[in-house]
Amino acid sequence: MNIYVLLKKTFDTEEKIVVSNGQIEDDSAEFIINPYDEYAVEEAIKQRDEHGGEVTVVTIGDEDSEKQLRTALAMGADKAVLINTEDDLEDGDQFSTAKILETYFEDKDADLILAGNVAIDEASGQVGPRLATRLGISYVTTITGLTISGDTAQIEKDVEGDVEKIECPLPLLVTCQQGLNEPRYPSLPGIMKAKKKPLAELEIDDLDLDEDDLEPKTKTLEIFMPQEKQAGRVLEGEPDAQVKELVSLLKNEAKVL
Ligand SMILES: Cc1cc2nc3c(=O)[nH]c(=O)nc-3n(C[C@H](O)[C@H](O)[C@H](O)COP(=O)(O)OP(=O)(O)OC[C@H]3O[C@@H](n4cnc5c(N)ncnc54)[C@H](O)[C@@H]3O)c2cc1C
Repeated sequence: MNIYVLLKKTFDTEEKIVVSNGQIEDDSAEFIINPYDEYAVEEAIKQRDEHGGEVTVVTIGDEDSEKQLRTALAMGADKAVLINTEDDLEDGDQFSTAKILETYFEDKDADLILAGNVAIDEASGQVGPRLATRLGISYVTTITGLTISGDTAQIEKDVEGDVEKIECPLPLLVTCQQGLNEPRYPSLPGIMKAKKKPLAELEIDDLDLDEDDLEPKTKTLEIFMPQEKQAGRVLEGEPDAQVKELVSLLKNEAKVL
């Protein structure tokens, strides 16, 4: 089976985000594989081990994205592709990302493409569905179970804590949700092997794309941190006096009554 994983580099979840002049400062930040993409890598490896074939991990990023790709290779993926836009494009959005991926996948004959349900930084959840639509293949989002036999996939999908069961033909794109599997840690032999696994680097020229084809359709106007929460207040006194004070505070201070 020809299996692909879409992988995005995101801020480490422990990282303290600093915004200055409306931009997120990422100069000294630590980056990780987007956590939902780890479920995608794990599932891809499991499906390959069961059905044969190979797993290729694809990212659009910069030269530092090699680190996350090597981690996926150390987990057990076979090949990696870095589409490096650093020198060619200043800006991009979900449209640009999906367009680059669409062009990359045009001649790939993928049976299964796995993405994360959402990227924990910009969190639009658009890239997977946009790509599947552009490629004209089926997609199912937020999956928590996947069984493939022949050309058919049986899928379990998370619906607000409930489970929906879906049958779908391959080729197929799925986006992966927590609960699908338990992503493995790269083993030491895996890390050693990963250094020798193929990692191809492409630029948008190699895909016959140029800046005009990829001009973003959206513009981020402002990024700001949420207001700091104020400490709560504990009311004291007799219960009926507390209720009166609470009603007064909700009406006059919080202005929600
Ligand atoms: C050339 C270029 C320049 C950009 N410049 C900026 C910028 O200046 N500022 C900025 O904030 N953002 C920039 N971006 C990022 C862009 O705005 C979005 O982060 C990106 O389109 C993904 O959207 P999302 O984070 O909402 O992902 P979601 O749609 O939430 O991601 C869902 C899943 O899609 C897949 N996916 C998402 N992104 C990628 C990727 N890059 N490679 C492979 N798979 C992916 C992953 O599997 C992920 O789990 C740029 C993107 C490009 C292509």
